[in-house]
Amino acid sequence: TASIFSAVEMAPRDPILGLNEAFAADDRTNKVNLGVGVYFDESGKIPLLGAVKQAEKARVESLPTRGYQPIDGNPAYNRAVQHLLFGEDSPLLAAGRVITAQGLGGTGALKVGADYLRRLLPSSKVYISDPSWENHRALFEAAGFSVETYPYYDAKTRGVNFDGMKACLNALPANSIIILHACCHNPTGADLMQSQWREIIEVMRARGLVPFLDMAYQGFADGIAEDALALNLFAASGMQFFVSSSFSKSFSLYGERVGALSVVTASKDESARVLSQIKRVIRTNYSNPPTHGGSVVAAVLSTPELRAQWESELTGMRDRIRVMRHSLVEKLKAKGVAQDFSFIVQQRGMFSYTGLSADQVARLQKEFGVYAVSSGRICIAALNTRNIDYVVDAVAAVL
Ligand code: PLP
Repeated sequence: TASIFSAVEMAPRDPILGLNEAFAADDRTNKVNLGVGVYFDESGKIPLLGAVKQAEKARVESLPTRGYQPIDGNPAYNRAVQHLLFGEDSPLLAAGRVITAQGLGGTGALKVGADYLRRLLPSSKVYISDPSWENHRALFEAAGFSVETYPYYDAKTRGVNFDGMKACLNALPANSIIILHACCHNPTGADLMQSQWREIIEVMRARGLVPFLDMAYQGFADGIAEDALALNLFAASGMQFFVSSSFSKSFSLYGERVGALSVVTASKDESARVLSQIKRVIRTNYSNPPTHGGSVVAAVLSTPELRAQWESELTGMRDRIRVMRHSLVEKLKAKGVAQDFSFIVQQRGMFSYTGLSADQVARLQKEFGVYAVSSGRICIAALNTRNIDYVVDAVAAVL
């Protein structure tokens, strides 16, 4: 009898994880992987933050038992997330208008939010930025939505096509779900300015659109509080909205899968009902989240010394990225490259959308072992003082 799998086709490789596989198989010793979305330190390693190390040590030494967590996760963690996102003195928190459920990274939080929205608004469409994080479309489609794009990046100005974005949103039906990058837009590094956020919020409120803010890089643009700007403006708008947040990058805890889904409702009473529905989504997906990462983050955020240490370590990551941006621009210029790359220092977050073509990216990989995403996105946090000259030579050669 035939195997039930005999007609199964090979799924397409994930573009970024596929790049990692090709990189791992490359035996050139000077190879450089700029394709990933991970922060590497000056020595090219994923850091284990000192604040995390201490909190982990204390936790393991306390020999915690391993009971199940509540369906929505660790209450101390959820509270800490709310304080970080909305501020300790937030009137929304005081009014019981925010619910938060611990999630499996930012991706897990997006998935729970998507599954819940699909039940709540089954006839809505989802709109993502053009371009967006490559998993947004697939994730919302997998939840059953049809996914379209709104104009976002303007290659000519290397900024946001604000008029295009606004006009598009202004023509959408009520209850359309709009995925917004709260800061450090991936892949372009182009964010809205404060005045533009205000205009977008006004359009979304007037048309009854449903905002879903994805916050994967809090602290990587200007600072923890500064990067919550969009979130705070939405909070002040009186609207209801969704937020997925992640500590993968800001705590360098990628593999522990630490994130959260927060939902802002209109009242405490709504919050209780919405939370009960979100718990149902979680219960039928993975029952309840794992313990370790969330307890470590909660401990760091609520212990003043560890909190201060984390903030300074996060500042260190942000500053090193900034130094690498400046260094890349200066070195390309010193190399005699005619094209102006000064936009790289304006882009926010971990990435630079370089404008390199798919052909140029392919040559970088083939001829130099320098790996980048075919869209031309490179991870600035993968550069360091030892590999940057080689990368500059390679880029200059393919231009
Ligand atoms: N959202 C965006 C925009 C991202 O860039 C990422 C990570 O690359 C995520 C969500 C997912 O984060 P996590 O690794 O915590 O699932």
